[in-house]
Amino acid sequence: MNLDKIDIFSTGRQPVVIAGPCSAESEEQVMQVAAELSKRGVGIFRAGIWKPRTRPGCFEGVGKVGLSWLARVKKELGLCVTTEVATAEHVEQALEAGVDILWVGARTTTNPFAVQEVADALRGCDVPVFVKNPVNPDIELWIGAMERLNNAGVTRIGAIHRGFSSYGEKCFRNAPQWQLPIELRRRLPGLPLLCDPSHIAGKRELILTLSQQAMDLNFDGLMIETHCNPYCALSDARQQVTPDELMAILSKLVHRVAVADNADFQSYREQMDEIDNELMRLLSKRMEIAREIGELKREKGLMVFQPLRYNVVMERCVKQCANGRIDADVVREIFELIHSESIRQQLSVMNSNGA
Ligand code: PEP
Ligand code: MN
Repeated sequence: MNLDKIDIFSTGRQPVVIAGPCSAESEEQVMQVAAELSKRGVGIFRAGIWKPRTRPGCFEGVGKVGLSWLARVKKELGLCVTTEVATAEHVEQALEAGVDILWVGARTTTNPFAVQEVADALRGCDVPVFVKNPVNPDIELWIGAMERLNNAGVTRIGAIHRGFSSYGEKCFRNAPQWQLPIELRRRLPGLPLLCDPSHIAGKRELILTLSQQAMDLNFDGLMIETHCNPYCALSDARQQVTPDELMAILSKLVHRVAVADNADFQSYREQMDEIDNELMRLLSKRMEIAREIGELKREKGLMVFQPLRYNVVMERCVKQCANGRIDADVVREIFELIHSESIRQQLSVMNSNGA
């Protein structure tokens, strides 16, 4: 993907802030929120026109008429405006109304047919487009959606992390699973990356903490749902904040320096490198031994997986880390990975000998 021409972030404000209501509800509501945000220096105004609601019967957006309200925001208040598009018709109508930036929502990113339809409708008009992560934690789907847009000639592409849905999750509406945006950054370092703490949190109380975490992970900006009367919002009422609350959140954010390449870190880095090397050496040693055990199991006609032994070793590892420095669940996860690799090695020993 060629991301050289991205200028979405030439708006002057760092981090980039996109704010506005979940949904455009009425002309008055849109103009009121936009005016309050404009007074407070926010440069990009969001409002959903077509709302993808999980269950029918919820507020599904005002539709096309809302685009003329966004056009007023742009003309009278000078804000950049952005909305979600999910079909070719949405793209055509949004562009005709002069919407400056489009975004593809999480449910659309999940569906390559829908993304392709949006991409085809965008052919020939190089408008900036943000792509939210798919609802499920699949980075290939996320990157795939951006590639479809890029192949259609869209060069100004950014990503928005809005968390991932999971059954039974209590704390977040959509769990952040930060490892995915981190991996996205590693694979596409030039890609602008925003965080949408509103849809991760599902409740306004968590937005500050999530925004700070995003800043600490070097995100380029935030999209935060903002409404003058959040309690009465027609969609996502629990997670929207007032313009004043938005400013309070932004003013509390601590901005840290991204690159720390000075001598203070040198000796720590060297120690870390040594530990990592040692970990890798020990892991290869463990796999060598696993293969030898595999050969013994084959000779004696034993099954590869020995559940009793597995439980004993797992519990010992968890107990050893009971000093609180590593979370027990993380120890279990690490050990499960190591163990599954040992099993894979032993299975390959069995197969290579034709057993
Ligand atoms: C939204 O931004 O209002 C929205 C519907 O977001 P998502 O696609 O992340 O659910
Ligand atoms: Mn919303």
